[in-house]
Amino acid sequence: MIHNNLTNIRSKMGENVTLVAVSKTKPMSMLQEAYDAGQRVFGENKVQEMVEKYEQMPKDIKWHMIGHLQSNKVKYIAPFVDLIHGVDSLKLLEEINKQAKKNHRIISCLLQFHIAQEETKFGLSLEEAESLLSGEAFPALQNIQIAGVMGMATFTEDTEQVRKEFKSLKSHFEVLKSKYFPLQNTFTEISMGMSDDYQIAMEEGSTLIRVGSKIFGSR
Ligand SMILES: *Cc1c(COP(=O)(O)O)cnc(C)c1O
Repeated sequence: MIHNNLTNIRSKMGENVTLVAVSKTKPMSMLQEAYDAGQRVFGENKVQEMVEKYEQMPKDIKWHMIGHLQSNKVKYIAPFVDLIHGVDSLKLLEEINKQAKKNHRIISCLLQFHIAQEETKFGLSLEEAESLLSGEAFPALQNIQIAGVMGMATFTEDTEQVRKEFKSLKSHFEVLKSKYFPLQNTFTEISMGMSDDYQIAMEEGSTLIRVGSKIFGSR
């Protein structure tokens, strides 16, 4: 089942897209099934759950933190996390930097943008992201790398609305790339698209799709 789901999703993906298998709430046996089908990138949204799964699963897995991360919990994932998708404050970035340094690592992060109509979702505006990147504190953060942007579209049947929001995230990405990362090939990722909208997201330039229920079943 999981194997077929992965095959189906992969058949729709372009070469520049990476599939993050969102395994939150799912048991280790299901992660193992995905692993056996070749999946190596997994996304979790809770620190403790991710640590437990990291400890029990094979060590060639890349673990992506996709949920809202509290500063006081960064230390638990800093030794192994591959990418943190949901960075939306300087305070959090500074803590990630501090913990990365302790672990002699450089941790890749994505800036999360608020692109949906809903009020509840976390994320920066373009102005806030620009003030973070141009601020005095930013150049001192030597143990983090901003690898791109992340966003979640509104939960709606209105696919044109969803498409519009993905376009706005792509446009934020282009602005930041040209202004703050013009010469680096390290600012490359656009994390957008979930089970219900990953195809629209890929059409609008997603490089990382975060798919849970279409792989593992509903939660
Ligand atoms: C749960 C979650 C997903 C995956 O959602 P599905 O609809 O099950 O694919 C993707 N991104 C984030 C940030 C999530 O929390």
